[in-house]
Amino acid sequence: MKGHLLDKVAIVTGGTRGIGRSIVLSLSKEGVDTAFTYVKNTSLADSLVEEVRRIGRKSIPVQMDVRDFDGSRSLVEKVKEEFGRIDILVNNAGITRDRSLMMMSRDDWTEVVDTDLTGVFNITRACIVTFLKQKNGNIVNISSVGGIHPLSGQVNYAAAKAGVIGFTKSLAKEVAPYNIRVNAVAPGFIETDMTGELGEIYKEKVIDLIPVKRFGTPEEVARVVIFLVSDRSQYITGQVIQIDGGLGM
Ligand code: NDP
Repeated sequence: MKGHLLDKVAIVTGGTRGIGRSIVLSLSKEGVDTAFTYVKNTSLADSLVEEVRRIGRKSIPVQMDVRDFDGSRSLVEKVKEEFGRIDILVNNAGITRDRSLMMMSRDDWTEVVDTDLTGVFNITRACIVTFLKQKNGNIVNISSVGGIHPLSGQVNYAAAKAGVIGFTKSLAKEVAPYNIRVNAVAPGFIETDMTGELGEIYKEKVIDLIPVKRFGTPEEVARVVIFLVSDRSQYITGQVIQIDGGLGM
């Protein structure tokens, strides 16, 4: 698949850990240069840059919060200065603050919706003019099976991730005439820090519900993202691909 993506440039939000890190590394292996965002852990960002360097590509870390609208514009400017172009955007940054609605604070609601949904708006809004001008671009949004078949105790996350699906489909229609594709993936339970917080008993109950009887890996999500940003999926836009071991059937 390398030929399809060689020397392209991608922005990946939330690149330092979990699914985002795997996406950055997979893109690098396909010959793509990347810029990734993160908020907290600079040493993880530095180690990712080094891993990418060893693969033979370049990656720039950008410490910025996807909730920051103006910061999103600066990110895009920075990437264009560094690499001269942007071909791919993967909106991956996301958080959970699961609790029952009765216990959910205004901050629990706002932090999740602002990061998981408004963050997608901020970064995509900042990139779209570039994509429209070059009449070329590819966007993949990381939604969640929780936005389609939500569990209880996560109204904030379910609303944000369902919002990402609506955003994906509407934008896909809007920009299809400009050779820009927009798709989403909806992972189920994937082994990352996010699901690492779940207790063992809860995990066992969840695994019982998953037809393939295991959590997925970040690499299994990254592989589908690579397919969606490559020419192999040229006729696919506005779709949501579930990567969930059959959980959301
Ligand atoms: P992790 O918690 O492992 O990693 C999240 C990443 O996002 C980190 O790099 C983090 O950086 C970054 N991040 C968090 N908040 C912000 C922000 N405001 N601005 C910029 N970057 C931010 O998450 P996962 O890898 O598990 O999840 C990635 C995506 O996949 C999320 O959108 C999540 O909702 C979705 N998903 C995950 C599933 C799972 O089972 N793991 C299932 C379904 C969907 P830092 O460390 O600096 O905060």
